[in-house]
Amino acid sequence: MTGKYEVIIIGAGISGIKTAIDLYRGGVNNILILEARNCIGGRLKSVKSENFPHVTYDLGASWFHDALANPLFDKARELGNIDYYFDDGELVYFDKDDKTVPSWKFEHITDEIICYISLSYLKDPNKPDISLKQICQEYYEKKHDLIDPDRWGKAIATIRIFGELWHGESWDNLSAKFVFDEDGHLGRNVLVKSGYSKVIQNEMNELPDKFETTNIKLNTSVKCIDYSNDIINIHTGNDSFSCDYVVLTLPRSLYSIDDPNDPSYIKWVPELPGDFKKLSHYFEAGSLGKVVFEFSECFWSETVDRFYALSKQEPKNPNDPQPWDYPTILINYQANSGVPALVALTQNPLSSTIENFDPKTKNERIWQLFQPVIAQISNAKVPPQPINILHTSWNNDIWARGAYCTSKVGCPDSETLTNLFAKGLSNKIRFAGSETVDGSANGCAHGGWFSGQREAKYILDDIAKKL
Ligand SMILES: Cc1cc2nc3c(=O)[nH]c(=O)nc-3n(C[C@H](O)[C@H](O)[C@H](O)COP(=O)(O)OP(=O)(O)OC[C@H]3O[C@@H](n4cnc5c(N)ncnc54)[C@H](O)[C@@H]3O)c2cc1C
Repeated sequence: MTGKYEVIIIGAGISGIKTAIDLYRGGVNNILILEARNCIGGRLKSVKSENFPHVTYDLGASWFHDALANPLFDKARELGNIDYYFDDGELVYFDKDDKTVPSWKFEHITDEIICYISLSYLKDPNKPDISLKQICQEYYEKKHDLIDPDRWGKAIATIRIFGELWHGESWDNLSAKFVFDEDGHLGRNVLVKSGYSKVIQNEMNELPDKFETTNIKLNTSVKCIDYSNDIINIHTGNDSFSCDYVVLTLPRSLYSIDDPNDPSYIKWVPELPGDFKKLSHYFEAGSLGKVVFEFSECFWSETVDRFYALSKQEPKNPNDPQPWDYPTILINYQANSGVPALVALTQNPLSSTIENFDPKTKNERIWQLFQPVIAQISNAKVPPQPINILHTSWNNDIWARGAYCTSKVGCPDSETLTNLFAKGLSNKIRFAGSETVDGSANGCAHGGWFSGQREAKYILDDIAKKL
């Protein structure tokens, strides 16, 4: 199969779909979207519960972040067809020793550590980047005589929870310089109860009905992009297409793959410029993971929105994780959806280890890990076995290779990385994707939407210049 298009978009996630919507609105309708998966949505992936039919779990994005400046949330409100929930009500911190850890025990010290980190790099911008764990140790060496050891242990555990479960990465690898260096969030977080797939559907409704069948080619992975001529040639396994403009919306992690035998590898003709090669190590993603536990009845508080499990120990062997090795957040579906289910958030390397557990004993291993943690929020002496366990597999997903971008030790600032993509390779080779926008939307679903808006505008302006 061959074909000539005005614009080819690679990837049918939120970024690719928004690019198509705005191009279409701007009068460009000779568009083709090539998508490697068998469905649209990319890292927006909702699954219906088999036990509780009215409940949907999101294995990718779950929240509208930046509620004051999120066009996807605004649209959901306007259309009134998406259930959402502000899950920022009652929250409980706990650890192995205490069923409740009051926040006064740690919050002022936690704030001081975060302040210490930013002051360190403000005072000395040339201070070498070290890991989040190392900078916490540095703080402790200087200040331990000022802190009660019990409060220190709890503060450090909360630092770990905030860093690791936002970035999906162990504090051993997170950059001290950039881990808390995000632009302030623009409002609250809103849990999308009806599932992000409805959000994608709301976007698709902006395109003509037949667009999905006529302009999106599923199960089609791009293998080669030849931009050596004015007309760009795009090769998939079996077919070739040509276009005037191409917009790539791949997760950033995929641009770091340089092994031609890797199934996600894309050959560029000519090769991508040196800057991409130089920085490609920092394109790798962290992996926020999720484990869904469904039970036959609720044996924990029905009113708490989230339980924060603090961890004071560290994994001795990442391949053989033990209960309490990692901090986790338990999202209470009894509170937000009225069903006895908890969703645990995980970080790498735990997310990866869970994905790679032997399938025969996987559920048993997962429950061994989480049972003692869930027991701490339980009203029952021994928590009953779950009736179902689901988990994410973003590390092993060849079209994602992790959840989303993170800040690893030694990485450049986020603007350098996003600009590399946002400026494009030329006026014809463009990049969208949630990891190509800077600021608080970076790596988020609405960031993808903004990137599609940006690239469609760029192309429409470029076409207009030639008229
Ligand atoms: C576990 C998890 C939790 C998250 N939580 C949140 C959250 O709560 N709130 C939030 O706002 N964001 C969250 N995110 C991030 C959000 O999901 C993403 O930022 C957003 O969905 C990315 O959209 P995108 O279109 O840029 O990329 P993608 O959705 O990844 O779309 C890119 C598409 O390109 C396709 N593709 C890849 N390679 C090829 C190829 N060679 N040829 C053709 N097609 C290809 C992929 O299959 C994919 O469909 C989360 C992500 C994960 C994984």
